[in-house]
Amino acid sequence: MKTGKVYLVGAGPGDEKLMTVRGMECLRQADTIVYDRLANPRLLTYAKPGAEFIYCGKLPKRHTLRQEGINALLVEKAKEGKNVVRLKGGDPAVFGRVGEEAAELAASGIAYEIVPGITAGIAAPAYAGIPVTHREYGTTFAMVTGHDKSIDGRPSIHWPSLARGIDTIAFYMGVSNLPYICEQLIMHGKSPETPIALIRWGTMGRQQTLEGTLETIVKKVAESDFTNPAIIIVGEIVTLREKIKWYEKKPLFGRQILVVRTGGVAGRIAEALLDQGADVIEYPYFFTRPTCGEKAEEVFARIGMFERILFTSPDSAAFFFKVFFESGRDIRSMQAQLYTLSGRTKKKLRALGLASEDAASMAGEGKLLIVGDTSSLSDEKRYRAAWGGCEMLAVYEKEESKEYGKRMLWLLQEENVDTVIFPSAASVRTLTDSLSRSGMRVDDVLSTAEIVCMGEKSAQAAKEAGYHVEHILRSPNLDDLVAYLTNK
Ligand code: SAH
Repeated sequence: MKTGKVYLVGAGPGDEKLMTVRGMECLRQADTIVYDRLANPRLLTYAKPGAEFIYCGKLPKRHTLRQEGINALLVEKAKEGKNVVRLKGGDPAVFGRVGEEAAELAASGIAYEIVPGITAGIAAPAYAGIPVTHREYGTTFAMVTGHDKSIDGRPSIHWPSLARGIDTIAFYMGVSNLPYICEQLIMHGKSPETPIALIRWGTMGRQQTLEGTLETIVKKVAESDFTNPAIIIVGEIVTLREKIKWYEKKPLFGRQILVVRTGGVAGRIAEALLDQGADVIEYPYFFTRPTCGEKAEEVFARIGMFERILFTSPDSAAFFFKVFFESGRDIRSMQAQLYTLSGRTKKKLRALGLASEDAASMAGEGKLLIVGDTSSLSDEKRYRAAWGGCEMLAVYEKEESKEYGKRMLWLLQEENVDTVIFPSAASVRTLTDSLSRSGMRVDDVLSTAEIVCMGEKSAQAAKEAGYHVEHILRSPNLDDLVAYLTNK
């Protein structure tokens, strides 16, 4: 069997869009993805359907043992012929142990690449309005571990050089060691008034920044129970933040919004809200893959006989025509009037150069083909009741990404969601079901959240399910949603 290759990829600091194009390319083709806590779980949705996920969140006390296990795992998976992505927060070479992993791969004769990423020590300050160098405020910059212990237990940092020689210092993994760090810096020559900032979950909507001086910060951190993961940034440069902070000024910064999805629809909502600075939990996520086989071929062969074709979702239109054209057929073999259940599906068809009508206006006559996913086949009875005899064709299947779902449920428990968006009636059931399946109660995770529904149908479903609906959009479009949330 051919041995696979291992890509040691930097996932970037948090914001999913800060991953490199090369990293994304590797992620999309990977068979196995080994990732840890700092990599944004949203990145998992870029994997190909059926990819294997292995979580190796580090447990602090078992550091070494875990690392050996990970090294061995990478070798083992590559030997099974898998292309592996080892996805690491930030840059894999900055306190990311890439050296150990690469050495192990080299020793085992396994091919690998290192794909750099944007490191948190630069990106988190940038998103907090602190450039790490500046002609007037800082001409030297160092990235330093906050664990000041070498293997023999003695300090591994040369504190006098650091305190006197470097203008701006970024400490990684340093929050629990903060008192010691401040003490050492003051003792070796930095002024107690030196500005310092802590940035937690930098570059994500959850970002929090705490400022102080070497003398005051320890008390402030204790009072606000600020925890990891955070970058500690020390230097005069921190004072620039007041003037140039930008991310924290975005309209939805600080908001935690749950967008419930049932298919592809919610994706754009999440994207728009992220862009406004919100922290978005988008849940659940479905992989889609085509299922067209002989059945589709057989239907295509007599496509001219259908007088009406109903597409039940945007994906149904996309997959149908993809396969239709790939099989070498000509659009002119179709005679049917096309119908859709939603404006998004209509748009998808429009993009393919095809006009369609709203299914509500569909006459009850003429041979009808309904195109959907495998789960919509079970709705045949309902369709028959509405439009009489019909034939069903499933062109794709949806499969929930369990790995992504697990991470999102963790987040729901850890974070404080303040707004829930139901884009459709089906999304209401999706949320209630998946919470109860994972043993969580809606009241526990969403007790203080405001419920926003994209339309009357979703509002009705939400009310029936016992949610207190705070706002219903007059028309279900993204601009109105963003306007409503940002104007509050
Ligand atoms: N390879 C990573 C660093 C891993 S060490 C990188 O290049 O960024 C883990 C430490 O990184 C954390 O303890 C924290 O100090 C820092 N860190 C990682 N992501 C962070 C983020 N989004 N915000 C703030 N600090 C972060």
